[in-house]
Amino acid sequence: MNIEDKVTTLKGIGPKKAELLSKQNIDTLEDLLYLFPRKYEDRRNTTPIGELEVGKDYLISGKVLSRRYRASSYKRNTPLSVLVGDGTGTVEIVFFNARYIANFFKVNGEYSFYGRVSTNMDRNQMVHPEFFRAGDPADIRGIVPVYPAVGGLSQNEIRRLQLQLKDVYNQIEEWLPERLVNENRLASLAYAFENIHFPKDGKHMLQGKFRMVFDELLTLETGLCYMKNETARDRNGVVIDTGCASEFIDNLPFELTEGQLSTWKDIENDLSSEKAMNRLIQGDVGSGKTVLAQLCMFLCARSGYQSVIMAPTELLAKQHLESFTEAFKPYDINIALLCSSMKGSEKKKVLDALENGTIDVLIGTHAVIQPEVKFRNLGMVITDEQHRFGVNQRSVLSQKGNHLNVMVMTATPIPRTLAVILYGDLDISQIRSMPKGRKKVKTYAVNGDMRNRAYDFVKEELRKGRQAYVVAPLIEESENIDAKSAEELYEELTDKFRGFKVALIHGNLKQKEKDEVMEAFVRGEIHVLVSTVVIEVGINVANATIMVIENSERFGLAQMHQLRGRVGRGSQQSYCFLICHNESEIALERNKIMTSTNDGFEIAEADLQLRGPGEIFGTRQHGLPEMHISDLIRHADVLEQAKNIAKSIIDSDPGLESEEYSGLKKRIIKMFGENIKLEL
Ligand code: ADP
Ligand code: MG
Repeated sequence: MNIEDKVTTLKGIGPKKAELLSKQNIDTLEDLLYLFPRKYEDRRNTTPIGELEVGKDYLISGKVLSRRYRASSYKRNTPLSVLVGDGTGTVEIVFFNARYIANFFKVNGEYSFYGRVSTNMDRNQMVHPEFFRAGDPADIRGIVPVYPAVGGLSQNEIRRLQLQLKDVYNQIEEWLPERLVNENRLASLAYAFENIHFPKDGKHMLQGKFRMVFDELLTLETGLCYMKNETARDRNGVVIDTGCASEFIDNLPFELTEGQLSTWKDIENDLSSEKAMNRLIQGDVGSGKTVLAQLCMFLCARSGYQSVIMAPTELLAKQHLESFTEAFKPYDINIALLCSSMKGSEKKKVLDALENGTIDVLIGTHAVIQPEVKFRNLGMVITDEQHRFGVNQRSVLSQKGNHLNVMVMTATPIPRTLAVILYGDLDISQIRSMPKGRKKVKTYAVNGDMRNRAYDFVKEELRKGRQAYVVAPLIEESENIDAKSAEELYEELTDKFRGFKVALIHGNLKQKEKDEVMEAFVRGEIHVLVSTVVIEVGINVANATIMVIENSERFGLAQMHQLRGRVGRGSQQSYCFLICHNESEIALERNKIMTSTNDGFEIAEADLQLRGPGEIFGTRQHGLPEMHISDLIRHADVLEQAKNIAKSIIDSDPGLESEEYSGLKKRIIKMFGENIKLEL
């Protein structure tokens, strides 16, 4: 057996299962080795039933004392209830929809169960535990790994596969220089795999896991460090004259806020210095980041340089085009739009004009980073809603010219420590104040019973000439998921809001259709816009004062906060209704936070606590490669360690050319895929 063999060489994997596994990027034995358990269950010892505590997981065994199951022909989900005792106490084992195991348990038979203890009317219960007849060989004792669901395989099947893989542990070659293994007290790879998949105890497992977390984070950090080093090479920035900034600022219809001004000071220093600008602007939805981008681009044009801003959606790019056109009306500045949906001939015109320098300001989607886009004298690149792009897209954009000034803007508040890791080469400015006169959005959490009253209120607002967004979690009705679909809502609201124009927008529409609807909403011809989360990013309609989020329990805090940021943009009082159809503890907790604060940084903190770091800082959201075992927050200390080592590696060998790093290099290429220009 060879570590590079296909998974089909294992017993129990035929072509069908192999195909399912391949969909999840598991093709070789090695890939399977890297399928790590998501948790462990301690099934080393059985616990006396008399000692069970509610809320914890236990392995118990005992005798069935009685059994209750009344199958009825019309009620399908009669529960099966089995009372189990071991002399120290009794516990009730409950299964719903129990027809399939109705005859499995016999009175006086011996069984063991693994599951969580709960209570029902003061009686201890286990609902749907794993169960085994006494002596069943599948009833493993020990610390049992629980794997993520892959390829439709059961836990037992995966465990059996891992057992077969024990033979290849000795074929795994160390890929780090011995020096690093020793200095960081790393376990050997064979030891790590053994103790991750078959841990003797918690300590061994943690040692193994540390090795894997270290490997993953070192790969990540060295890859990032390599890319930063590439972009940072020869850092003599284009100098932009900021002398005429006041001309633009004085012409604005409003005063800049304190946060905008202090950020502008940072930007001004960057632009006018020889050092190229490299700055991240963090500011909540509606804090007014766009105007700063406009100011920069205005100054570039005045200094004779081109500039480009990249937005994550076409909708947003078009909105920028509109607001930039308005803002630059008094000045002689040429603006153009570049999106992938444009006709070939239109695109060609823009490309030519960019190359011969007649366009000063380019606004676009990721179309602007395509190789055929060439500038005459680019001075600055800006990415809007940076968190929607990959790290590499930012660096590709900044490679469009020499000595470019780079500014990235994001509405996702990231704690400073994490930002430093993710965007280590960037300086950071935060806009923490909102434009004056902006009224706080009033937020109400309502349940299904109050839903109609909420919509009556919406109708009142529509009568006053306002507009509303209604967001649903699904596009179309689904049999499996009990939640409102946008289509369903559209029909209901068309009826309810007779006399007003209701429209529907979702991701399955063609780009042109989406744009038409959106444009009509901006013009005020549509009063109620029913949508899925496609409107999440950056849309700005000041007359829209209502945001209704249906099935709010299906949205995360960060997402709801982004959605709410769509309203409250004008001088009118705005409202947000969270219609919650499932009052689980976490849904109620989220509602409480949403109704009590509008501060994105505060909400991000709360989100972190509620959901745990893995989810909110899911690397995907920040355009980083996916992590398999590490968690950027929980393993912040290892990350820091990895970052320092990565830095010293790149300092000593910027191209990772020496033999000792060939293993590391291979890993980086695998992790970053085509996003990294690094060759073996
Ligand atoms: P975001 O930071 O979410 O990108 P925008 O830049 O879209 O926010 O700004 C939201 C709205 O606030 C825009 O209509 C913009 O013109 C307006 N705005 C920006 N700065 C100010 C200010 N200092 N005073 C009043 N309104 C402002
Ligand atoms: Mg914006």
